[in-house]
Amino acid sequence: MTVSSPRPGTTAPLDLQALRARIDGRVIAPNDDDYDTARRVMFGGIDRHPAAIVRVSGVEDVRAVIETAREAGLELAVRSGGHSAKGDSTTEGGIVLDLSDMAEVDIDAASKTAWVEGGATALAVAEAAGKHDLAIGFGDTGSVGVGGITTGGGVGYLGRKYGLTIDNLLAAEIVTADGELRRADADTNPDLFWAIRGGGGNFGVVTRFQYKLVDLPGIVGGLLILPATAETVQRFIELSEEAPAELGTIANVMPCPPMPFVDAKWHGEVVIFGLMCWAGDAASGEETLGAFRDLARLGGLDAPIGDMLQAGPYTQMYPPEDPDYHPLACSLTGFLDRVDRSTAATIMNRLESIDAPMRAVQLRTLGGAIARVPDDATAYSHRQSEIMVNVAAFYEGDNDKTQKQAWVADTLAAIHQSDDGAYVNFVGDEGEARVRAAYPGGTYERLAQIKRRYDPDNLFRLNQNIPPA
Ligand SMILES: Cc1cc2nc3c(=O)[nH]c(=O)nc-3n(C[C@H](O)[C@H](O)[C@H](O)COP(=O)(O)OP(=O)(O)OC[C@H]3O[C@@H](n4cnc5c(N)ncnc54)[C@H](O)[C@@H]3O)c2cc1C
Repeated sequence: MTVSSPRPGTTAPLDLQALRARIDGRVIAPNDDDYDTARRVMFGGIDRHPAAIVRVSGVEDVRAVIETAREAGLELAVRSGGHSAKGDSTTEGGIVLDLSDMAEVDIDAASKTAWVEGGATALAVAEAAGKHDLAIGFGDTGSVGVGGITTGGGVGYLGRKYGLTIDNLLAAEIVTADGELRRADADTNPDLFWAIRGGGGNFGVVTRFQYKLVDLPGIVGGLLILPATAETVQRFIELSEEAPAELGTIANVMPCPPMPFVDAKWHGEVVIFGLMCWAGDAASGEETLGAFRDLARLGGLDAPIGDMLQAGPYTQMYPPEDPDYHPLACSLTGFLDRVDRSTAATIMNRLESIDAPMRAVQLRTLGGAIARVPDDATAYSHRQSEIMVNVAAFYEGDNDKTQKQAWVADTLAAIHQSDDGAYVNFVGDEGEARVRAAYPGGTYERLAQIKRRYDPDNLFRLNQNIPPA
């Protein structure tokens, strides 16, 4: 059976039979029962119909899909965990190279390293490494794929102590547009190694990552819900900045979800939904975390609204997720230099200016080990940025989407300071200027040169695209 491409004149029809004959893994096509499930990505509102979704089983399959897409002139989407907000891991009429069946995690406890296939999730790696009291930092969500988060940078709880995910990347194996499997590390194809540490999926399909692991027998962490006022928000960030690098925090300033363990009077009220991770000795962790608990008093309460902080394995930072959760969300990302009283007051005013059930300003304190890496050492070049900010809102329907997008844009504009950068993994479908904002200081131009070398025809263009120089 053949499926015609939606772009007549530019592509040849996909010969499914020929593709199936070349693939050891599974080729899922529109007539298959699980096609609709297989074409789904994490975010709602992304409803594309690939000509085929290929669940690759190894390097030869990856190569075959790349060659097929190239020969047929079909759009090629690369999927690891499927969390791209822009929908880059699916395509209308093209081929999805789905790595979810290439998800092996091979821990070498003696050398404290791991080889991880490109379709594994952050949670799977955390679980496997945790069995040896080891860890590597990804982000805040277990279902995010290692493929997307690593190639974009990887900002998570362990960042201040151990750096970004890419700062713990030792090597990668990558199939480039010409079908070659290449190793990339500090000595082999160092330009490619530099580029895939922040340059996203522009350079090929990473089939395996080799990470360095750190000793992490346990953490103290979880959720801490505090009253949100300009004072508590400002102080929360100050405490996060002053804390030892063992502490990673994410302050989500947002309406309190209707959680059963939270007094119903707080449901829907704007709170600090704090995600805390102390990756160090438990006794000193209690002391550091105690200062955050005390913020309840600054907000006029005797105790936090919710306090789920506890000692346990690092994997407890990844709460269970609902695989059927596909939110309709719009968001924008940026960096702040500081959250002073006036910025915190603006954040509070903006959050109180609308009534959406889900709206949030998320603040992540950076610095520490992230900032000790020189700006030009990797393609992630925001090393001196102090605080990452994400503004987000959920919407229902097109009218609401326009309103929420405007609220998100106005909110980010209202708190913008001197840092014009953007972290590529939180950039949505925002055009070239924002891709350039992700790669300041000559990074974009350097990436474009490397792109010309490894992907001169821009086969890998469903991403935050850097066209070849
Ligand atoms: C709920 C949620 C929470 C998040 N939290 C964090 C966080 O805490 N920290 C953080 O840093 N980011 C975070 N992100 C952003 C996340 O890192 C990016 O969306 C990332 O691209 C998702 O990776 P994925 O593999 O799941 O996505 P996919 O949609 O599968 O992939 C996204 C893109 O990455 C590229 N890609 C994927 N796999 C490969 C591969 N093997 N080789 C080459 N290129 C590849 C492709 O270009 C692809 O289009 C979060 C996103 C969501 C939705």
